[in-house]
Amino acid sequence: MSHELIPEGLWTGDYYNEGTGKSDIFDTLKEECGVFGVFGHPDAASLSYYGLHALQHRGEESAGICVADGDSFNYHRDMGLVKEVFDKDKLESLKGNMSIGHVRYSTSGDSRITNAQPLVFKYREGNLAIATNGNIVNEPMLRRELEKAGSIFQTTSDTEVIAHLIARSPKDFVEAAKDALQRLVGGFAFLLMTNDKLLVASDPNGLRPLTMGRLGDAYIFTSETCALEVIGAETIRDVAPGELLILDREGLREERYTAPGRKALCAMEYIYFSRPDSDLNGSNLHSARKRMGSRMALESFIDADVVTGVPDSSISAAIGYAEQTGIPYELGLIKNKYTGRTFIQPSQELREQGVKMKLSAVRRVVEGKRVVMIDDSIVRGTTSRRIVNLLREAGATEVHVRITSPPFKNPCFYGIDTPDRRELIASSKSIEEICQEINADSLSFLSVEGLISAIGGYDEQSYKGGLCLACFDNDYPTPIDFDGEEKMGCSC
Ligand code: SF4
Repeated sequence: MSHELIPEGLWTGDYYNEGTGKSDIFDTLKEECGVFGVFGHPDAASLSYYGLHALQHRGEESAGICVADGDSFNYHRDMGLVKEVFDKDKLESLKGNMSIGHVRYSTSGDSRITNAQPLVFKYREGNLAIATNGNIVNEPMLRRELEKAGSIFQTTSDTEVIAHLIARSPKDFVEAAKDALQRLVGGFAFLLMTNDKLLVASDPNGLRPLTMGRLGDAYIFTSETCALEVIGAETIRDVAPGELLILDREGLREERYTAPGRKALCAMEYIYFSRPDSDLNGSNLHSARKRMGSRMALESFIDADVVTGVPDSSISAAIGYAEQTGIPYELGLIKNKYTGRTFIQPSQELREQGVKMKLSAVRRVVEGKRVVMIDDSIVRGTTSRRIVNLLREAGATEVHVRITSPPFKNPCFYGIDTPDRRELIASSKSIEEICQEINADSLSFLSVEGLISAIGGYDEQSYKGGLCLACFDNDYPTPIDFDGEEKMGCSC
């Protein structure tokens, strides 16, 4: 990408996303979005606030809550973190016993308030609000078709496609939503709400996580179970691939809008995206990551003095590696959580050392030591090189990098913000070449078999064990090319 496109004030060497207008010194993968729904609780808005706060790591760009009271809608959404978007007065103004909420990190739709979710529409049957997590791969084709038929789109978010499909259908809301969902290809978790109904749907492959919980008589729906813990709700079960849950005055109905396809839950949720205190498919994420570290140690042992994890997502795996090898685990790297967005233009010297703003090596821990550095993935390789160099500058005598995922070679089409295939270092370089490029003494990646086994709860004999592993093995669970057009990014 041309650096002339980077607005003044951003750091040289940052990764600038034209869509979001944001840059990051780290070239790590970006979370997609988080959804949170409540049915049947008088404090639906407050519960959503706490739920979205727990899902904040899935999207820091905008937040929104829409409530319904059986007759009407009320909503608020804005750019910023959940705590910035909502205050006591705003939450108190959102009265209703049903709600859908959203936190967003945009990739495909650009960064502006009109794309903040929940998207809210009026159509002939009344109000309609939509919150989603994921990406509709055939959206450009559907959008062209709808525009030819007369639809006028209000946003660049591809979530809007489902609203037009529903509005154009002569059928009632539930049947129209079923027809619309059947036309979508991709990975998605949808919450759709009218004045008196909540629909909850997962894509036919179950690519994006979506869990149902209960709080007293209320039903709760969330991208991650950590949001259930926060409000004191209990986990009931994951929403199944191709399932449609309908909640209204008659209670909960469990239906399908389509037959389930090959189960393919995103493996990166286990490796990196979800919070360690969340459970997926019955497995706790911290424990799964520890097993990944432990399996890594079995597959690729190296004698060393300390093991350290790149914070925050790799700490669990580093503990697992340390336990398996007997090499002590140490906090060799510390993340500064308070860097946020800076408006101060740093000096040239600071720009070049920009990574130190976010991450520090602990000299007294690593000086004179052979260090095993555990990380969850390598995207372009530049971040890994920077972190290895931090450890070396702090006096590490050797740095051995262990990655608790297979080489990341292919872009994601299901809602994870990944760079173009050509920018993924593992798509064109051998492990030895990557090792040299990141200035490590040795480098190993976890095997696909090791990953499936470490995650646990999946049938290792069945096809992919029920996981999507496409960014590692290029085997996408859905078609990705429509009209010769591949659409990356996320719907939300
Ligand atoms: S391609 Fe990779 S990141 Fe995308 S859904 Fe599949 S496993 Fe997850």
